[in-house]
Amino acid sequence: MFLPISREEFDGQPDIVYVIGEAYCDHPSFGHAIVSRLIESLGFSVAIVPQPQSDADYTRFGMPRLGFFVSGGVVDSMVNNYTVAKIRRTRDVYSEGGDPGKRPDRCVDVYCRALKRLYPDCAVVIGGIEASLRRFAHYDYWSDKVLPSILSSSGADLLIYGMGEKPIAEICALLSRGVPLARIKDVRGTCYLAEDGALSAALRRDMESGEALICPSYDEVRSDKRAYADAFRMQSDNSDFSGKTLLQKHGGLWLVQNRPQFPLSAAEMDAVYALPYERKPHPSYRRGVPAMEEIEFSITSVRGCFGSCNYCALTYHQGRIVQKRSRESIMAEAKKLTEQPGFKGYIHDVGGPTANFRDPACGKQLKSGACRDRKCIGWKKCPALEVSHKEYLSLLRDLRSLEKVKKVFVRSGIRFDYVMYDKSDEFLTELIKHHISGQLKVAPEHVSDKVLEKMNKPPFSVYLDFKRKFDAINARLGKKQYLVPYLISSHPGCTLADAVRLAEYLRSINYMPQQVQDFYPTPSTKSTCMYYTGLDPDTGKEVYVPRSRREKAMQRALMQYGLKRNYATVKEALREAGREDLIGFGKNCLIRPTKEEAIAAKRERERASSDHGRSVGNICGKKRNARGGRRKK
Ligand code: SF4
Repeated sequence: MFLPISREEFDGQPDIVYVIGEAYCDHPSFGHAIVSRLIESLGFSVAIVPQPQSDADYTRFGMPRLGFFVSGGVVDSMVNNYTVAKIRRTRDVYSEGGDPGKRPDRCVDVYCRALKRLYPDCAVVIGGIEASLRRFAHYDYWSDKVLPSILSSSGADLLIYGMGEKPIAEICALLSRGVPLARIKDVRGTCYLAEDGALSAALRRDMESGEALICPSYDEVRSDKRAYADAFRMQSDNSDFSGKTLLQKHGGLWLVQNRPQFPLSAAEMDAVYALPYERKPHPSYRRGVPAMEEIEFSITSVRGCFGSCNYCALTYHQGRIVQKRSRESIMAEAKKLTEQPGFKGYIHDVGGPTANFRDPACGKQLKSGACRDRKCIGWKKCPALEVSHKEYLSLLRDLRSLEKVKKVFVRSGIRFDYVMYDKSDEFLTELIKHHISGQLKVAPEHVSDKVLEKMNKPPFSVYLDFKRKFDAINARLGKKQYLVPYLISSHPGCTLADAVRLAEYLRSINYMPQQVQDFYPTPSTKSTCMYYTGLDPDTGKEVYVPRSRREKAMQRALMQYGLKRNYATVKEALREAGREDLIGFGKNCLIRPTKEEAIAAKRERERASSDHGRSVGNICGKKRNARGGRRKK
């Protein structure tokens, strides 16, 4: 049975009312489904208000007994509502029928302010991507400003950051003992605002001893880019369970981030995924919810990612420590899928942020957290990284041997560098043979090593090696399958010359991406920090940032240099980069000159050659003269 979203489904005072920015889909790929089922499993009644539009929606269930929970959804509302060019999207795959406009911009702020206006005495707890990634003062691309913590702008009482199961369970346990939400201040994985006099004695002791660290304040980070980069580094260095308490002054208030939560064990993950999900959108959505189509027959096998791509926010939301479900739990879910109406024999995905990361990067991570001063993989591989696909491979084998299963796809991203570090080709061979259909999407992201370093991606040679191996295995298996490379334009560090090199590579492989991804500075990624500050927060060194609309358009157009609509922009880019040699008819050229330019060039060549002829004639004439006249035949 679905949890109630209307008065017809629930007639009483719920313990918790959960306001969400997307359509209610009771499927564990949605954070709101996990949170609501978890709260229910802890013995509390919960009613859901999806995408409220008016006061009547907020007040549908009246004032809850314990408080409101608010989540913007699985995507930040600004990313969901706008393209990177800041143009409003015409579709929202997380709403009924894909209709846009049901989730307001900065929806967590909008929802919380409405709740605080209607129920000033009721506690409000926020969580999910939007709250989590905007918990400190942060650069906001859409307003081009540094905004304060979302706790300050929304008026919420408590913020849950990262994955919410453990903090929610602790908060619910305290609530059930009668502790009011307003007094819950020391749960790991939460943030709150407090006046100076309200800081606990224990926290003050930690501040004195260095166990709690003070980041540059909101005023400092909005006026000083170096202070912003310093604050960002402190926040990213303290984002797993080994991290310290962090504080950031917001005017007269302290934003306090309690220490991060511990990762979930496999048993805890299994318990979360065993909750009684309906695995469908609420039946009131007659036109369906487009996002469900892709995930209805997909299985989340892991959380967390030690890849640390600098443009990805998951590092700060799910963390670097990979947490996995047991094989039994995954197999049980797969069996359930095969019984579901509409199952046609295809499991669409078995993965997570990175499909082929099934375990923590090394033994040390679970004991003392991920290293602060180095990355596990990416631009450089850590010597301690443990590489094995054995367990994932045997899981995939078990899944594809299930009755009624025709094929198990792997559609979550595969880290090709991790595949290359595996001494055995067994995984790649079986992936190619059984788990893709025609193409494999991978993310080299660029060809220029200096850009890749800024993304924390492996050197381009690793991708080329992977491509060679992929092609060789396909040839051996008698298959014609292709790699589809994902690429990003205008990432910090990427000059126009780098963008031209990328276009030259695409021409060399005769590939033009259907869609191109311009770097999108979403909240709280390392790349966004570089974009805003022009500094690499790890080194403090300056980074080139393509910021102007014109340069971004040129870099983007170069990736699709063959499109007619990009012709003028590509030519402008090549001229600006001093690469007119790529405008012409040669096999290495990216674009041809226009007809008029070709005619003019031809005339110029002819004129030059006749000038040359004349001058040769003159020289010859001089020679003839010098020799004293023409030789007689
Ligand atoms: S030792 Fe290496 S693999 Fe382990 S956490 Fe540190 S960087 Fe990652």
